[in-house]
Amino acid sequence: MSLSPERSDLASPKAKTAGKARTPLLAGNWKMCKTIPEALSLVDELKASCSGLPDREILVCPPATSLESVSRAVRGSFLRLGAQNLHWESEGAFTGEISGRMLASIGCAYVIVGHSERRQYFSETDAVVQKKIHAAYREGLVPILCVGETLEEREKGLASDVAARQIRQGLSGLGPENFSKLVVAYEPVWAIGTGRTASPAQAQEIHAVIRGLLSELYGGKAADGTRLLYGGSIKPDNIDSLMAQPDIDGGLVGGASLKAPDFARIVKYESR
Ligand code: PEP
Repeated sequence: MSLSPERSDLASPKAKTAGKARTPLLAGNWKMCKTIPEALSLVDELKASCSGLPDREILVCPPATSLESVSRAVRGSFLRLGAQNLHWESEGAFTGEISGRMLASIGCAYVIVGHSERRQYFSETDAVVQKKIHAAYREGLVPILCVGETLEEREKGLASDVAARQIRQGLSGLGPENFSKLVVAYEPVWAIGTGRTASPAQAQEIHAVIRGLLSELYGGKAADGTRLLYGGSIKPDNIDSLMAQPDIDGGLVGGASLKAPDFARIVKYESR
């Protein structure tokens, strides 16, 4: 079965919302949650509660077991599909792994790469992340590269340095031609699943550093076109102020993406 992703136009930045020249992307990372029936029920609720927003892109990233079922359920709708991880090879003797080729064949358009939980619990290094980024492009998937510092690193004043290192190493060897599609998620580790959100100013500061680095590495046009998401305890009551920041183009949402009313409010953010 080959399910080609719908709405490929949205992967390139062109729509304008709230003065930004990049299409906002609101992505739900369901992590290791939801059986297939639970996933399908959430998709039904999201279809009903998040429709009618053509100026923003809405993405769900279910666990691997639900991907194909969710792919069928979102086909033809405004919801887009992403995976949470991929292997760097297309196929081979890697028991338990799933390749980008497999993900693309069931309709995934995006894949999260280098999430801090994978770096922390599954020993993913910057070198592994780099191989996965290359694999995502090879298979036609848009990578969402996650970067962000631990609390200890922030307290030592290293937040910008950590993001810069993870970006330089994660993107090493990548040509500028891929930049119309790259998505970067700044996710401070101390804010993920903790209920402690970076303030809009803290998030904007690192987003500006990231955009500056992308400009240095790939040129101003590429940097201006790259969507930068914030992630870390996004909730209905903090999304508006985060999205009001000039360099925050969307959110990668964990816990709050598991409840349709919360995710719908996040998707319907209002930035002034
Ligand atoms: C995440 O999983 O990327 C995340 C940001 O989680 P949470 O929103 O629960 O902090």
